[in-house]
Amino acid sequence: MYDKHRGISGENPEHIHFLYETAFPRFQSWGYKVRVLRNADWDYVSLFHKTIEKSSYPDRIGQMRGFPMATMGRCWVKRDLKTRVLERFYEDDAKDAVTIVGICADEPIRLRSLYRQPNKRSLLAEYGITQAESKMICEDYGLLSPVYELSNRGGCWFCPWVKPAEWAAVPKELRAELIAMEESTENISGASWNPLRGRLREFH
Ligand code: SF4
Repeated sequence: MYDKHRGISGENPEHIHFLYETAFPRFQSWGYKVRVLRNADWDYVSLFHKTIEKSSYPDRIGQMRGFPMATMGRCWVKRDLKTRVLERFYEDDAKDAVTIVGICADEPIRLRSLYRQPNKRSLLAEYGITQAESKMICEDYGLLSPVYELSNRGGCWFCPWVKPAEWAAVPKELRAELIAMEESTENISGASWNPLRGRLREFH
């Protein structure tokens, strides 16, 4: 998702290693099919450099898109590289699928949002399992991602909300590359919507 031409994932390197080396083989051993979905045309790098063609702010049209805003649900990484890819998969290959989402019984705000969406369920909530209990279950099965030793969240390593320990787990050359990308938008008014501009450099 970060850079499909070089095969670099947007997931934290420790998490992606855990997925391929531990989680996927375990799911397959239980008889489940594992399929990784990706946007066929775009990745983070190409979308970062994409020219804005439509915007409710006319001065932004024609500028480089730049960093994701990643606040109040307004993140183009989530929209273009995650949500739309899943929506297309459901349309093309799994029209009647029910999505099981990992939201726990003690996450009422997330559950309220989930219950507004059709064909989505949370088995954790239906069985009354809390976040702490979910963590214990994952530990019991050897399926707790190492990313939870770095942060209380999973997500893109280039997210403006990344925690210092997550950022430190990313190879140095990639960190330098991302900072250079961020700097490339600094003098373009409105192009970089990163509310935490410069934050990644503080960690570097
Ligand atoms: S982790 Fe951050 S950059 Fe990635 S999709 Fe979520 S909000 Fe967007």
